[in-house]
Amino acid sequence: MTPILELRNATKIYAGGLLRRRSTVALEGSYLSVGEGRPRITAIAGESGSGKTTMGMLLLGFIEPTSGEILYRGKNLAQASREELRRFRQEVQAIFQDPFEVYNPFYKVDHLLTVPIAKFGLAKTKEERREKIESALINVGLRPEETLGRYPHQLSGGQRQRITVARALILNPQVIIADEPVSMVDASLRATILEALRHLNRELGISILYITHDLATAYHICDNILVLYQGSVAEAGDVDGIILEPQHPYTQLLVGSIPWPDPKRRWGEEAIVSQGDVAGQATHGCKFAPRCRYAMDICRETRPPHYRTAETRAVACFLYRDSPVLPPEEINSVLDT
Ligand code: SF4
Repeated sequence: MTPILELRNATKIYAGGLLRRRSTVALEGSYLSVGEGRPRITAIAGESGSGKTTMGMLLLGFIEPTSGEILYRGKNLAQASREELRRFRQEVQAIFQDPFEVYNPFYKVDHLLTVPIAKFGLAKTKEERREKIESALINVGLRPEETLGRYPHQLSGGQRQRITVARALILNPQVIIADEPVSMVDASLRATILEALRHLNRELGISILYITHDLATAYHICDNILVLYQGSVAEAGDVDGIILEPQHPYTQLLVGSIPWPDPKRRWGEEAIVSQGDVAGQATHGCKFAPRCRYAMDICRETRPPHYRTAETRAVACFLYRDSPVLPPEEINSVLDT
């Protein structure tokens, strides 16, 4: 089955500095398939600068890869026809962290929901349009009678973000890419938004890429996870295994920083002590070596491949070199659970 979206050996390098001589590798030789087989919620996790947002922007077609390809239904997005691009814009929707950005304070929320319907010609009558809007609101847990006819400032941050989810839903998407959708929302309201995303996945069969720095929320709503470090996948597989028993030292560091609601367990208690700052990007060897307490000579000389440590787990670390090597283009096989 052809995936709806695919990264194939995608690399993104940003040039910067004087005369653009300094370059940063935001994403390196990445492979990922989305919307193939059973719809899943996949987390793309990592610290800032890990490449997770770049991955989302590439998949949304907002930026072009420096090398490699972004495929939409098996076709290079850069060569898509106008009609294919239109279908792509309808089938692949984005939700961003700041729900305020999409609102014009002078328009009622009805306007925000009506525009995509008109743009894509999705309703022939006023009644049909109203039906679509109400159904989308109900699907994200909002009551139309309490939402429509209001201005953005009359709604809570959680309601505003759920309206942006409803707006994406109106277009009947196959894939939603949600980049930190709850990071600007009060903790008490996060669960309602995440629950809405899970409902879209489970009940409507929409594949979701959940881009986050927050492993705790990823653990609660995702099926599987890719942990990125400096533009490369450090560890990938099913979310329960990775969060409960992380194998890559970087994932262990991230998981050790999760503020679990356990009074006996302190935040960061199990974090690995850094052996140095992140000193730029390593051109060879393991990118995590400057921070890794397990670093060996081989780690500083050779970049580790992915080792398949279990059916649903790949880890880019020499500590697991007794396991079989997983070629980069087969990384999706550990997400196929
Ligand atoms: Fe640490 Fe070496 Fe594994 Fe990199 S390959 S994470 S430096 S042990």
